[in-house]
Amino acid sequence: VKYSMDFKSIIRDIPDFPQQGIIFRDITPLLAHRDGLTAIIQDFKTKFAELNIGEIDCIIGIESRGFILGAALAMALGCSFVPVRKPKKLPSAVFRVEYSLEYGTDTLEMHQDAISVGERVVIIDDVIATGGTAAATAKLIKEAGAELLGYGFLIELDFLNGRKALPEVPIVSLVNY
Ligand code: 5GP
Repeated sequence: VKYSMDFKSIIRDIPDFPQQGIIFRDITPLLAHRDGLTAIIQDFKTKFAELNIGEIDCIIGIESRGFILGAALAMALGCSFVPVRKPKKLPSAVFRVEYSLEYGTDTLEMHQDAISVGERVVIIDDVIATGGTAAATAKLIKEAGAELLGYGFLIELDFLNGRKALPEVPIVSLVNY
């Protein structure tokens, strides 16, 4: 892709989804654009290169839109990909983390043997809102003894201050609201 893509004009805003008062940022039209994924991955690559964080061994993708972006980035970087999943999806022994939502709690899991001690990893998801999901994923990585180099999000919702919830490593975001 030789032009820089205006992601915001292609991301679709859905009012009152999944509940009243929330504007959901729908990335499916961007994925459906023939150059969408290419442009996203190109931007991630450029911005991570600018951080000078050295070689990335592994991309950690958060279910489920983090799988799409994370797997594509792993392929572009020539590194491994590891999924962090909702409970009871992974078949082998897992590390598990519970984290609080506005109402109630949620759980994420990662295979215990998926990453090794000292492995240099980056977390990828489509959106950072409150930061709870990414912070919980960082805990799984710590439990595995890997080294967290940074986070990458297609979209950052600035007004929710999600980055304050994250351990202090660099954050790349491509679109801000
Ligand atoms: P957080 O834990 O940061 O509050 O929420 C982030 C998670 O919720 C991400 O996994 C993301 O996929 C999902 N999410 C929250 N708001 C949106 C949104 O407006 N659009 C999309 N596509 N995902 C969202």
